[in-house]
Parts: sequence; structure tokens; C-alpha cells
Amino acid sequence: MTEIIDGNAVAQSIRDDLATAIDQLADAGHTPTLATVLMSDDPASETYVSMKQSDCEEVGIEALDIDIDPDADAAKLYDTVSDLNADEDVNGILVQMPVPDHVSDRQVLRAIDPRKDVDGFHPENVGRLVAGDARYKPCTPHGIQKLVESAGVDTEGKEAVVVGRSDIVGKPMANLFIQKAPGGNATTTVCHSRTEDLPQKTREADILVAAAGVPEMIDGEMVKDGATVIDVGINRVDADNDKGYELVGDVEFESTKEKASAITPVPGGVGPMTRAMLLYNTVKATGLQHDVTVDLP
Ligand code: NAD
Repeated sequence: MTEIIDGNAVAQSIRDDLATAIDQLADAGHTPTLATVLMSDDPASETYVSMKQSDCEEVGIEALDIDIDPDADAAKLYDTVSDLNADEDVNGILVQMPVPDHVSDRQVLRAIDPRKDVDGFHPENVGRLVAGDARYKPCTPHGIQKLVESAGVDTEGKEAVVVGRSDIVGKPMANLFIQKAPGGNATTTVCHSRTEDLPQKTREADILVAAAGVPEMIDGEMVKDGATVIDVGINRVDADNDKGYELVGDVEFESTKEKASAITPVPGGVGPMTRAMLLYNTVKATGLQHDVTVDLP
């Protein structure tokens, strides 16, 4: 029987378990606070930010919601980040990407105080992750580590194949898999748009992470018997329904399920974990900033 890994359930247990750390912070007089900054009128970005805010409220994290006119000068965003860096009541800062074309996303990421960079994208935090001394693991790959663990899969000595080399998913995922640490110690291959003979690589995988953003590009023929398959993709494809579209992953679910021992669905797999690990990082950040030891899940 193939296990369908329930991301909603694992995410809920992480949220429940964060209560201990949030209580420890409350005992020390601190309420974790996450500032979300949105400089966009893209409906998807608006939805992501409002989901992150309601997640915060649900677990007892204060959410500070800052909207910036997408036509404003880039300086407005940098000044806002600088004010949030200086605000001792703010523990985490998240600037929702993408930012408008006239704003440099690299410059924005560098402007965030690395101690408040709960996405883990600041170069200092990327460096620490690579060096095996992560302060904040990026939310999506960290969530995937938790999903793999929840399926009872030990990564040590396994062949892990990551399809995609983005800064937010593929690269940090591969870095976590190669760390000499729990959830790591895997022999790791990173595939990307220039990889030759992708199926030959994916068929080697004991653990396959698909993060290419190409609808259903991985099918059962590309997967080894018994593999654990993690589908990161969230792709809108036209559909004959009220919305006119549906969401599909990078994995063709039905044929892959026949081969895999465990697989994540889309939706309800990686997505809820990304959101839960943002809460985790915000709670961790609050403990670090106030020198309070917290027990994290
Ligand atoms: P990206 O576009 O930044 O990177 C995609 C990567 O895939 C690139 O490195 C590219 O080299 C590689 N790629 C593209 N086509 C390929 C092909 N045919 N063969 C092999 N490699 C190929 O995307 P991203 O931000 O990493 O996101 C990837 C997907 O994951 C998207 O669908 C995105 O919506 C989704 N995503 C989901 C979550 C979540 O929480 N579930 C979080 C982040 C991203």
C-alpha cells in the first residue's frame, strides 16, 4: 500500500507542538510577532499573505500586516524594512515575493536583519545553512524534511534526487540532504533544466523531490519502485470547472502512486508544511532574540 503523506495533518501537529515554545516565550513576557510586507496587487500574493496572517493568529503569533503601493518608490520598501529591523517588538520579517520590477529582490533580501529573516534567504543565513550551522532553514525544504521523517523514511545513505535548483527550494533542499545531520546524510543529485536524461537520474532516487514548476512532468515511468516522492509543484492548468483552472503538481499522481511507497498529494502535501515552518522560524527567532530557550518540534 502506498502511503499518501498527509501534509495537512503533519502541519497541524507542528502547529500544536509549537504551543510549548509559545508558552515558554509568554512566561518570559514575549509574544512572537511576524511582519508581512506586501508590495503587490497580485491576487495570489494577497492570498498567500492573508493565509500566513491567519496561521499566525491561530497559534498565538502576532501578525503585523504592511501594504505598500506597488507603484511606490523602491525606497519606500527599503525604509519599511529598515524600520522593522529597528523595531524590537518585531521578531520576523517576510517580504512577499515577487516584488515589482523596479525593486531589486536581492537588495530587499539583503536589507532584512538576518536575525529576523524567517524565510532564511539572507546571504548570511544561506551561508550558515551551507556551513551546517543553520539559523533558519528555508520553510519549504525544512517542511519536506519533516514530511519525509513523518513517513518513517531515514535519509541516511539513501539516494536523494532534487529536480530544480531554485534559491528557495532546490538549492536549500539539496543542502539539507547533504548535511551530516538527521534528515541529511543522503547521496544527493540536483537536476535542472539543462540536465541530460532526467528519467535516468530520477529512477535512481530513493527520495525524489520534484520542484521544477512543470505540470506533471514526472510520471510513474521515471520513478523507482518503493521511492518516496515529494511533489513541491503548484501549477495552474486550465480545467472545465467554475474557476476555469485546477492546481496540479510536478508529479503525475496516479501513475507515480503505483510505484512509490509514499507520495505527497497536491494540494495538501508540501504547501501546508511551508506555512507551518514559517511559524516555527518566527517562534525560533523570538527565542533567539530574547535569549529564551524554547523547545521546538
Ligand atoms: P523556479 O522556477 O524558481 O525553479 C524551477 C527550477 O526547475 C529551475 O531551477 C529549473 O532549472 C528547473 N526546471 C525547470 N524545468 C525543468 C525541466 N523540464 N527539467 C528539469 N528541471 C527543470 O521554481 P521554484 O520557485 O523552485 O518552484 C518550483 C515549483 O514549486 C513551482 O510550481 C512553485 O509554484 C512550487 N512551489 C511550491 C511551494 C509550496 O509550498 N508547495 C513553495 C515554493 C514553490
